[in-house]
Amino acid sequence: MENMEAMEACHWKALDDNDVGCMLCPHECRIAEGGRGICGIRVNRGGKLQAAAYGIYPAIHLDPIEKKPLNHFLPGSRILSLGSIGCNLSCRHCQNWSLSRERPEGMEGYFIPPHLLIEKALDRGSVGVAFTYNEPTINFEYIMDVSPQLRSRGAKVVHVTNGHLHPGPWGELMEHTDAANIDVKGFSEEFYGKIAGGRLQTVLENVKTAVNMGVHVEIAYLVIPGHNDDDGQVGGFIEWMLSELHDQVPVHFNRFHPDHRMLDVPPTPPGTLQRIRDQAIGRGVKHVFIGNLGGGDFNDSYCPECKKKVIERNMYTVRQKGLMEGRCKYCRTVISGVWDR
Ligand code: SF4
Repeated sequence: MENMEAMEACHWKALDDNDVGCMLCPHECRIAEGGRGICGIRVNRGGKLQAAAYGIYPAIHLDPIEKKPLNHFLPGSRILSLGSIGCNLSCRHCQNWSLSRERPEGMEGYFIPPHLLIEKALDRGSVGVAFTYNEPTINFEYIMDVSPQLRSRGAKVVHVTNGHLHPGPWGELMEHTDAANIDVKGFSEEFYGKIAGGRLQTVLENVKTAVNMGVHVEIAYLVIPGHNDDDGQVGGFIEWMLSELHDQVPVHFNRFHPDHRMLDVPPTPPGTLQRIRDQAIGRGVKHVFIGNLGGGDFNDSYCPECKKKVIERNMYTVRQKGLMEGRCKYCRTVISGVWDR
């Protein structure tokens, strides 16, 4: 489908009075004719649900893969990174609000035809395409159109996502996904309801599905002082990771900076991040990183067996000093990750 004007959405149903029901994410928006869903980009035109941001990508960069962040997926590589508009959550602390709050009207100039993306995906040393910056999965139709073709040409498909989708469409997306960084934004339904406008349980189930389907998953947990840094949430999250996933899923505890509608909360103290990292490692999580904080060696990777450093990172400069064919070069233990194309 090359014409964004006429793109009918997937996963919706017709309701009475020409309303439609979108079934893509747990909000299940009921949308009257001429209206739009919470995400702002799925609109009812003439009693049909349309994907109004189909192929609209105003942000395009060639990024280090570590910036997603993905630390155990083709380290040191670069990936063509696309940001669209809209979001199905409403995080008070959103750091990409200029994209997530944007609407599709007047954005036609940013349309990237699928054939062009597929043609350009591997240019300039890119390993594929990362759908990132805003919430990518609400642009479901475009991603489903391009992903199989991208992968058939050897390009990797990556999502940086909030994981807040209904299980059916989520499974469809994950079938065509190589790697995902998925946010777990807090570890209580209260946090998700008040701060993010979504449901935690949906996200947790989707993380599990992605891991079980063989997608390379890393988790991002933004540590917000006074909101999700308490022992109950952090401890619960770590226990869930260990009991429901496995101990080698990489996790990034990221530093919060005031933004958008959460300007009254200070940046996360470095000591809090260090304490949480120590707690996760102490309980058995093998690959724990701290993001958005300069200095230190908390972004290096260590062998879970002999504890020697296998990958050193300095910002986006990467040295695989102790990794050989996916194993620790000192004790030959397999290091979980995707190391070769
Ligand atoms: S994807 Fe958008 S329109 Fe559909 S249910 Fe979610 S928020 Fe509503």
